[in-house]
Amino acid sequence: MNYDIDKIRSYFPVLKKEVYNKPFIYFDSAASSQKPVQVLMKEEELHNEYYGNIHRGAHYMADKATNDFEGVREKIKTFINATSTKEIVFTKGTTESINLVASSFCERFVAEGDEIIVSEMEHHANIVPWQLAAERKGARIVKLPFNDSGILEIERLIELISDKTKLISVAHVSNVLGTINPVKEIINIAHHSDVPVLVDGAQAAPHVKIDVQDLDADFYVFSAHKMYGPNGVGILFGKEKWLNEMPPYQGGGEMISEVSFEGTTFNDLPYKFEAGTPHITGVIAFGAAIDLINETGLENLTAWEHSLLEYATAKLKEIEGLRIYGEATQKSGVISFNIEGVHSYDLAMLLDKMGVALRSGHLCADTVMAHYNIPGCIRISFGMYNTKAEIDAFWEALNKVRMMF
Ligand code: PMP
Repeated sequence: MNYDIDKIRSYFPVLKKEVYNKPFIYFDSAASSQKPVQVLMKEEELHNEYYGNIHRGAHYMADKATNDFEGVREKIKTFINATSTKEIVFTKGTTESINLVASSFCERFVAEGDEIIVSEMEHHANIVPWQLAAERKGARIVKLPFNDSGILEIERLIELISDKTKLISVAHVSNVLGTINPVKEIINIAHHSDVPVLVDGAQAAPHVKIDVQDLDADFYVFSAHKMYGPNGVGILFGKEKWLNEMPPYQGGGEMISEVSFEGTTFNDLPYKFEAGTPHITGVIAFGAAIDLINETGLENLTAWEHSLLEYATAKLKEIEGLRIYGEATQKSGVISFNIEGVHSYDLAMLLDKMGVALRSGHLCADTVMAHYNIPGCIRISFGMYNTKAEIDAFWEALNKVRMMF
């Protein structure tokens, strides 16, 4: 594998830090990744060299900022293989992208008695917006379950889909179980009944190749901050045929064509869904993060992180009383677990004091916790910069902590 880990690590200054006098081990990239110098430098360059508000300024700075902003839209189009930049809407994150579709799609296409199918392994961000929209419309959420191994029971999908089904929303990769769901197959099943599908790609976009045309996804959403980019930037990919039919999500500048007190006409796609000044700095700097992923090569990244996953899983399985949640063969670099008799919060606190940053609690996935009848768990998750040496250090720290209980 052509993977220069030392070079990659050198891009992330924060990884050289110590916490509590211990080398810093960052195993929380699924929550948010660290930022490389390329992204930090781009933010600085923009503000030092050519900042201006986009699309509206008739001056040099505004024009240059606009070109760069739209250049990133083009870059994202290529990154996910969309057909047109009209399909790429900037939001402030996956959460806002889902809220946009839930609100606007349901406004137009969902009526009383209709159903939206949502999987049992979703992040709260892919459940609550549908509940809110369903409540407004008198519609109902239907659960697509997963089994104890953390695999979706997609054979149930056919019986769950009916003429009341208006949309299916499912994660590409689970933020707890790490399962890479067979979204292409799910979309294929859904499309047989003319049901559109939203794919929550928050945990997939930094790790696996996305091709929205090959998947035939109707909507695909993700966040820049999990992809080595800035926080406050999200992407909504939507097929033009849907975005054209959907009413605007928010009103304001940029999303209009003409405004009068008699009425307003709306801008073309994608601007119809981009009211107000967006996160200009964040979007432009996100371009540098995408460049880094492209230079590293997604296939290299996937292979590197998979080797970390296999290595860590084997080591964790040596620990008596440790249970891993999520044992799909198609899995991303996320491992959630509990150790019998130890509270996940206590474990996370002690590991933090040993320099290991990880996540504990319900992981914004109460329905997954309910499935296993647990209040919470520990999650480690990997990014492009993690190493087997860090896994060894974590494993030793974990064993030390375990002895304390
Ligand atoms: N969906 C999934 C699967 C996630 O992991 C997350 C973030 N943890 C979200 C949605 C929400 O993303 P954001 O907070 O960036 O809006």
